[in-house]
Amino acid sequence: MAPLQTHIHQASERGLSSVTTLITGPSHCALVDPPFLIPDADSVVSWIRSITPNPLVAVFITHHHPDHYFSANPILDAFPAAKLYAAPYVCTAIDREYDEKVQYWPAKLGEDLVPTRPRKPEPYPFSFFNLDGGVVVLLGPVQGDSIDNTLFWLPAERTVIVGDVIYARSTHVWAEEIETPAIWAGWMSTLDTIEALNPETIVPGHLEEGWKMDARADLAHTRKYLELFREKIANAPKKMSVDEVFKTFKDAFPQADKNLDFFLGHLANQFGEGGEVWEANRHHRVGLKERKELQGYILPLPEA
Ligand SMILES: [Zn+2]
Repeated sequence: MAPLQTHIHQASERGLSSVTTLITGPSHCALVDPPFLIPDADSVVSWIRSITPNPLVAVFITHHHPDHYFSANPILDAFPAAKLYAAPYVCTAIDREYDEKVQYWPAKLGEDLVPTRPRKPEPYPFSFFNLDGGVVVLLGPVQGDSIDNTLFWLPAERTVIVGDVIYARSTHVWAEEIETPAIWAGWMSTLDTIEALNPETIVPGHLEEGWKMDARADLAHTRKYLELFREKIANAPKKMSVDEVFKTFKDAFPQADKNLDFFLGHLANQFGEGGEVWEANRHHRVGLKERKELQGYILPLPEA
């Protein structure tokens, strides 16, 4: 039998239903993606204790977005032996925007919901880890809803934890950072790479309460979302209004009915005529990323 098991915790709707994954071995456990909000992190602490008495040795982060690491503090306080890690390129991305995000989110949501000083990860220098004899491979950097994501691949278990490279079909996709065709193509290549792993289980970055993971359906949902983005936004003959963008995506994915103001409000403002662009998200020179940075792992990289 494969030595590792995975368990998922879904954050509250207020916490954007982000997914936290516990990887358990016979003697130790590790966590991927702490939640955004403190109450959800408190819930993760008791959830871990309900699953295993084994020590938590590490907490990993898939990407720099605050809804995947901001409330690591309560978890690290509860399990002080655990290290907080991310791939070096994720640490760099966190550093780029940390000061601004830390000013923004506790002020917006309140200090009882968001830590004022979220712990920062230390760079994890390896491309894999071995937990109780089970291997987890870190694949990255790859494009997802933001630049520089890590996929966590458990080959023996055929499970891949993908963060916000794939959204479950319950949720709108954060497509707001697709600034160029290269970013769009980079994200599609990541989806192709995940499919090539032939995983049985894909742990998505967001999954609403009452929904179950479905590797094929969630992958298809994210592909469909990106295809609609290309048709209606990137390649549209005429820019839609803010309201039209909102309605187009709302109507195309009626089952995704949570946090519309956040996901669709930002998308509509970013790409709709006269919309108000969310400047808080501009630290990563997304628009300047070249294909070789985004897809350089494709050998040989075909002409665009
Ligand atoms: Zn997210």
